[in-house]
Amino acid sequence: MIETVFSKIIAREIPADIVYESDELLAFHDINPQAPIHILVITKQPIPTLNDLQDQHAQLAGQMLLAARQIAADLGFAASGYRVLINCNQDGGQDVWHLHLHILAGRRMGWPPG
Ligand code: 5GP
Repeated sequence: MIETVFSKIIAREIPADIVYESDELLAFHDINPQAPIHILVITKQPIPTLNDLQDQHAQLAGQMLLAARQIAADLGFAASGYRVLINCNQDGGQDVWHLHLHILAGRRMGWPPG
């Protein structure tokens, strides 16, 4: 496995404020939040980027969205709304090479994004 800060969180080698866990996924608060609520949903499998997602990962990809829906309901921001996004590679603003989805909530999001 390529070691990243996220693989260390999965291994519980570094702490994180975990809000959701399944066999396939882990979700926790971002250390540098870009909104009042900023949660990351990461795969436990070490898939580096969205470009590396394969047909065999279709169920996993769906689980990431369903986890976002569940977290929004559990944390109470489903009705007010939220944004879900995945950064891919340099132009997408990706910094950690381990597939993850961002959930941003708690303020009105601008469009287009900066
Ligand atoms: P990316 O830019 O790769 O899409 O997003 C990576 C995210 O991981 C950033 O929002 C960053 O703040 C977050 N992050 C980086 N290191 C840590 C960490 O050690 N703990 C947590 N909870 N989040 C982290």
